[in-house]
Amino acid sequence: MTRVAIGSLMQETNTFVPFPTTLRTFEAFYLHRGEEMLSRYGAARVEVPAFLSVFREAGVEVVPTIAAHAGASGIVARADFEMLLGEMLARIRAAGKLDGVALALHGAMVVEDEPDAEAEIVRRVREVVGPGVPIGVSLDLHGHITAAMLQDGVFYVGYREYPHVDMWETGERVARLLLDAIAGRRRPVMALAKRHMIVSAVRATTGAEPLASIVREARRHEAAGACLHASLFPVQPWLDVPDLGFAALVCADGDKASAQRIADDLAARAWEARHGFEPELVPLDEAIRTGLSASGTTVVSDIGDSPSGGAAADSAAVLRALLRLGADRAGRLTYLTLCDGAAAAKALAAGPGARIRLRLGHHASPADGAPVEVDAVVRSLSDGVFTMRDAGAEGSVVQLGLVAVLAIGDIRVAVRSNPAFEWDTGLFAAFGLELRHAALVFVKSPAHFRVAFGPHAARILVADTPGPTCGNMRRLRLHRVTRPLFPLD
Ligand SMILES: [Zn+2]
Repeated sequence: MTRVAIGSLMQETNTFVPFPTTLRTFEAFYLHRGEEMLSRYGAARVEVPAFLSVFREAGVEVVPTIAAHAGASGIVARADFEMLLGEMLARIRAAGKLDGVALALHGAMVVEDEPDAEAEIVRRVREVVGPGVPIGVSLDLHGHITAAMLQDGVFYVGYREYPHVDMWETGERVARLLLDAIAGRRRPVMALAKRHMIVSAVRATTGAEPLASIVREARRHEAAGACLHASLFPVQPWLDVPDLGFAALVCADGDKASAQRIADDLAARAWEARHGFEPELVPLDEAIRTGLSASGTTVVSDIGDSPSGGAAADSAAVLRALLRLGADRAGRLTYLTLCDGAAAAKALAAGPGARIRLRLGHHASPADGAPVEVDAVVRSLSDGVFTMRDAGAEGSVVQLGLVAVLAIGDIRVAVRSNPAFEWDTGLFAAFGLELRHAALVFVKSPAHFRVAFGPHAARILVADTPGPTCGNMRRLRLHRVTRPLFPLD
């Protein structure tokens, strides 16, 4: 019987975030050990359950190791990384003889003394399983791909879509190719081509130009049979590491030269299109005035404070501007969120209906701004648990910790305790804030929010807000990247 180990160690590092990622960060997102991996994902349409589905169907014996995700956040502490990777390796070692390993990784994890964590993970898994055992890896399209990741007997498949609505399908592709490699039906070989350019997440969605055309070329190469998988990695830009850039990573069946030709072609197309990735950002005040005066619901991205890019989600920049522009007495509702566990706790202590005075924001990011002092009424309180329903990871359970909905005049702030991703409309709806009742809805997400919020929006704007995930590439203070780097140079 074929035996395959599966594991996952995912985190998207933002090197501008002022706090480290530790074991606690992973535990707050999820950390499944051993057999827990088989049940704890529930109905989530992500990579590991897709591995399990393919392997079960093929009658493969699965050895679960660990699956840990820390979302996006600061640089990972070495000791905590060692604990997680060490446990994965120990479980692989204890499994004895294996025919293959399937890993779900991100690609942009930075450990404090290792800017290329994925290369280290794969190298150390190899040391345990020995040569000749194929290792298949799924990656996020925002991964930072390096030559060091290209190791013998290791293949990679990246998400095809951003917003990431194909995490399950990517897992299936990895699992199927791994079975083909184990059976000797396929011999995956990899080639990489890069260009030193960074692109704002605002414009780097796969359904819109200029990326859409390059994605179509990748699919064309696959359909023509010249490669198995052609993956594009526009990379996330909030990562100050050497060799940062746009990567084309191609997997072919035995023909490395063919893989390299395709990778070179795709990377060249990305470089040609580089000027087309410049984002259209709207000044924050203009976004607020538009939302309060135009008909329907205006959804605005507070891109600079996006937890999916690692930000603390505690910036008060939007709230401060809303109050300055009179949104609290506009006669129409504005919704936003803020991560501030202390404020939520204070609301809990006061109870529903109470009027409280609070300092909101910047507990985790004091260097990025000052809190805003407000008088608010506690409208509701909840444990902050909801199931994603419309953002491509349906079925995933989100844990926001204690949530207090505060009313500051016509402004509603959903104050939560954990900086979870702002992808799903459940973020508001689960706490009684129906989008159709609001003139203005702020979402802390660069692009993924469009999947779920788009259908509810009369218009979508991206505000040029400050923070560690700002949309304006020229504002990034990058020191370790390889220069020249477009568009900085
Ligand atoms: Zn991503």
